[in-house]
Amino acid sequence: MTNDQTHIIVGASLAGAKAAETLREEGFDGRVVLVGAEADRPYERPPLSKDYARGEVGREKVYVHDEGFYSEHDIELRLGTTAVDLNASSKELTLDDGVRLRFDRLLLATGSEPRRLAIPGAELDGVLYLRSVHDSDALRERLDRGGAVVVVGAGWIGAEVAASARQRGLEVTVIEPASVPLERVMGAEVGAIYRDIHTDHGVEMLTETGVEAFEGAKAVERVRTSDGRAIECDFVVVGVGVQPRIELAARAGLDVDNGVLVDEHLETSVPGVFGAGDVANALHPFYGERIRVEHWANALHQGPAAARNMLGHDGTFDRLPYFFSDQYEVGMEYLGLAREWDRVVFRGDPASREFIAFWISDDRVVAGMNVNVWDVADPIRRLISERVTVDDRRLADPDVPLDQVVAAQRGGVA
Ligand SMILES: Cc1cc2nc3c(=O)[nH]c(=O)nc-3n(C[C@H](O)[C@H](O)[C@H](O)COP(=O)(O)OP(=O)(O)OC[C@H]3O[C@@H](n4cnc5c(N)ncnc54)[C@H](O)[C@@H]3O)c2cc1C
Repeated sequence: MTNDQTHIIVGASLAGAKAAETLREEGFDGRVVLVGAEADRPYERPPLSKDYARGEVGREKVYVHDEGFYSEHDIELRLGTTAVDLNASSKELTLDDGVRLRFDRLLLATGSEPRRLAIPGAELDGVLYLRSVHDSDALRERLDRGGAVVVVGAGWIGAEVAASARQRGLEVTVIEPASVPLERVMGAEVGAIYRDIHTDHGVEMLTETGVEAFEGAKAVERVRTSDGRAIECDFVVVGVGVQPRIELAARAGLDVDNGVLVDEHLETSVPGVFGAGDVANALHPFYGERIRVEHWANALHQGPAAARNMLGHDGTFDRLPYFFSDQYEVGMEYLGLAREWDRVVFRGDPASREFIAFWISDDRVVAGMNVNVWDVADPIRRLISERVTVDDRRLADPDVPLDQVVAAQRGGVA
């Protein structure tokens, strides 16, 4: 009998919504409460820097479920409501409207939020961040007005905003302290390919440059850089990374360290309390250590995996990290995790913008990125997860199907 039980999910975004869906799919017939601080029903964030921001699609494109889904599945959706206190020993959650809810199992899917810049002028109008659909509405309105934008940070959000702004015809300057965009994830060699993609599309890319201040009377009018430049602009978008929302978990005494610590079953240090999505720093069986993944596919799959374990399954979450990005006409998927590598092997000419890059460590593929090449995720996943020793020449040769590279390596055939 489960119907007298209450399972609560804190955080009504992708991980939380998919977890609620899974509880019902798996036949849980007790009470399901999905608590979300935002006023909107769960939505997906990737379009917010891409087609939604450019005004090419409307709101209906971003929602995780149809409007009627939650009531049809008897999921109590409490929107515009923040969970303010979690008492792990009495299993009670307090909401900001004073409501207290007892729970049997609880999932923390509180996600992450943008890091803020603390520099002079940070509070000026026209200094935008991008996380919510309302942030994207504000960006969209600015893109409609046109003019010049300075994008601070050339990570994923910054790179995608820069691309969308150029696609809408704005003048775009990107300021990035590293030597190339996306350097932290891809390294200098592959990051340079992305630099060229942006500069070819007319972006002014200022690398190895910091931001000292935003200046303007009321609204931002210019950005002062660490090398003494003053860049005139109509608005600024800051994309300097995110931080996990751990306050509720930390106050409740759960173990936290760069996110809420969870084991390979996605359970926190308190039995019966789970974590999934951007907020979860999860022990990954393949890597033998904890990793926190700030990407869409992780939220999509970890939410359901946690939900199943809330129902007593004992599944381990061992999916390889995966993410995608679209910038201009360049789409990519990245699988794996390259923290250190010896070299990058390319299959196809990067200049053609149709290629696969493999990050190699100890003659094994630790990550692969396909750029405008599709339907290769499965063989790339196998190369990584089976830890096969690779031959650079075969890997680089587009005439050798990736599956055959795997087979040849397994069988030892050159
Ligand atoms: C603009 C943008 C573009 C992106 N593009 C891509 C992409 O192209 N590819 C990719 O792989 N990933 C992309 N991502 C990342 C992806 O969207 C995130 O990894 C994903 O949203 C994480 O989902 P989540 O459910 O874990 O957390 P979040 O989406 O962060 O949601 C957490 C929710 O919990 C709520 N919450 C927090 N604390 C409380 C509380 N105490 N009480 C109640 N509610 C609370 C928050 O309000 C929020 O709604 C993008 C992200 C952004 C912002």
